[in-house]
Amino acid sequence: MLRCQDIVELLDAYLDGALDAADAAALGAHLAGCEDCMAFMKTYRGTVRKSRELSERQLPPELRERLLTFLSGRTRPPSLRERFLTFLDHRKRP
Ligand SMILES: [Zn+2]
Repeated sequence: MLRCQDIVELLDAYLDGALDAADAAALGAHLAGCEDCMAFMKTYRGTVRKSRELSERQLPPELRERLLTFLSGRTRPPSLRERFLTFLDHRKRP
């Protein structure tokens, strides 16, 4: 049985469409029985979708400029693993 900390590796590959059948089955089995991981996956997928919509839509030049400045200022965005562990941490706190 996979632990929550193992899930993030698979989740990353899964969202890239790079997961093989055995790992996908293991991921699915864990998600079916783990509310925390399921909630994270839903949140993460929503984020990916939103950022895609944003880049496809035509932004006003001024907003685009500010967005690019903002993004380039963030030298090192948190990795999926970091976000996941933070997420679990918050969920488990009383
Ligand atoms: Zn889990």
